[in-house]
Amino acid sequence: MVLLRSRILWKIYAVFVVIILLVAIVVSSGVSRLIEQKTLDEVKQILEVRTLLLSSLVLPYLGEEAATLQSLIKKLGDETHTRFTLIGNEGVVLADSDKDPASMDNHSQRPEVLASQHYGIGITTRFSDTLQTDMMYLARPIRDQHKLLGYARAALPLILIQQRVADSRKAIILGIGIVTLIALFFGFILARHFIRPLLEMTRMAEAMAAGDFSPRLKICRRDEIGRLAQAFNQMAEKSLERIEIINTDRGKLNAILSGMVEGVVAVDGDEKIIHMNQAAALLLRADGLRSLGQPIWEVTRLHDLCDVLNDACKSDGEIKKSMNISYGVNEQVVEMHAVPLKNSAHETVGAMVVLLDVSELRHLETVRRDFVINASHELKTPITAIRALVETMLDDAENMPEETRLSFLNKIANQSLRLSAIVVDLMALSRFELQDEQVQRSVVDLGQVVKCLVQGLKLAAEEKNLTLEYIEPHEPLEIVGDDETLGQAISNLLDNAIKYTSQGGHVTARLYEMGKEAVIEVADTGIGIEPQDKERIFERFYRVDKARSRELGGTGLGLAIVRHIVMAHQGRIEVESRPGSGSTFRLIFKKKLLHNNGEANS
Ligand code: ADP
Repeated sequence: MVLLRSRILWKIYAVFVVIILLVAIVVSSGVSRLIEQKTLDEVKQILEVRTLLLSSLVLPYLGEEAATLQSLIKKLGDETHTRFTLIGNEGVVLADSDKDPASMDNHSQRPEVLASQHYGIGITTRFSDTLQTDMMYLARPIRDQHKLLGYARAALPLILIQQRVADSRKAIILGIGIVTLIALFFGFILARHFIRPLLEMTRMAEAMAAGDFSPRLKICRRDEIGRLAQAFNQMAEKSLERIEIINTDRGKLNAILSGMVEGVVAVDGDEKIIHMNQAAALLLRADGLRSLGQPIWEVTRLHDLCDVLNDACKSDGEIKKSMNISYGVNEQVVEMHAVPLKNSAHETVGAMVVLLDVSELRHLETVRRDFVINASHELKTPITAIRALVETMLDDAENMPEETRLSFLNKIANQSLRLSAIVVDLMALSRFELQDEQVQRSVVDLGQVVKCLVQGLKLAAEEKNLTLEYIEPHEPLEIVGDDETLGQAISNLLDNAIKYTSQGGHVTARLYEMGKEAVIEVADTGIGIEPQDKERIFERFYRVDKARSRELGGTGLGLAIVRHIVMAHQGRIEVESRPGSGSTFRLIFKKKLLHNNGEANS
């Protein structure tokens, strides 16, 4: 059906039909003309022979009576179905096979008679008034010893010729018609034979254009069309291979880009986004997929980003810049590395920027810097105090009363204790920082650890007139970790609770389980912590009340150490506190699970 709608098929077929019809017309008219000519020649020959015979036949009778001649001519005419006329040398009709010679006019001026005088034979074709039909006349002179005696004329009606030509023309037309029909039929088959593969190729090309490379052409011929079909199939296979390679590469690239921590944004020459990975979308608070094809300045209001991409489009090398992004209270520092995108002809077709969120890095730098400043300051204070006390004692060594000297020495001892406490805490902290990943892992019975610590601090609590209580769990609670460091964390919490609770207060250590977790809770009825300080007390050297902490022998590092230890055990810390009423610190760890084979999880 599709084949019948093929334009090219009908175009070729139309040309074919026109050629066949032209050939048929030319051939049929040529052939019929030839037949007509041949028939006329034949008639002419017949008339020539018959006039020759007539002139020889009538020669002995020319002197006879007119009636004798007339009956002879009539008899000859009837027998040969030819009109014979015998004309005297003056043009008078002596006898005629079809008409009474007396009624006939003088024939000396008849064209065939006139021509025969000059050429020996005269032929004309004309309408005969006598017989009312087209006739061919042929006249030849009758001579006796070069003496002209008259003319013998024979005529045949052309109707016979015309009929014969018409019959043969009919036969020709019929024959050519049949041949034409056969030619048209085979022409159609032939055209279809060549058009069908073209249509199949067109269908295949359309499918390929639509992205379907699976159809293949059947190759069942070895001519040029067969080779073209083979080339088509090869082209489809190669294209499919290439597309698969491109898709795999693109998939890999997308996987790499979307797995990157850095944000990546690429734009074309019109600043329209051609790629935005997840990290970039997250950073710019944009929808990565919906942003595709949109101008960058519509997707984000970050002028620095738009500018750097714009500049990269115009430059030849890398451009580095940093920008601050603030969404609400959150401030982020982002480093941008932009480069132009080039095509194979090294023309700039867009730009790409890699976004690196360095907020954390910057924060860490600040923390580290602050730490160095704080640590030096913390160390400097007792050192300065010790130095001043020692210098005073040296200056006044002889006159200094015994009491003052003892008091100075006590102060020096206190300051050196403080100094050593700071150094010990700092060393612990740096050790934990280094060992974050390598905590010794064994099964720790938390009940044992807490109980020991509480007992060890009982005396200190009593000295401050505090009650220190330990509430045990119903069943032993075990976690996987390092008992020494865990003990240090719990000890720091208990130390703080005792330190920051005034006389007559209560400190309660409690161990309990909460689902799959073990909770160590240290609650006191002490001074409490203001909400704004709650987050910051875990920072190194942060103290709500510096003087008070120092007075109580604090270093400002206790809770920072606690946080490190808890993080190294994949645990978490919760703090509840109300200024003036007391604080509750909770360390929460995953309980040890027993596997079927009895081994502890890690
Ligand atoms: P410090 O050596 O000063 O105690 P920490 O890191 O242990 O340092 O604690 C930081 C700060 O948190 C303390 O200076 C104190 O202000 C506050 N703090 C810690 N524990 C308590 C508590 N139980 N009650 C009230 N404030 C506390």
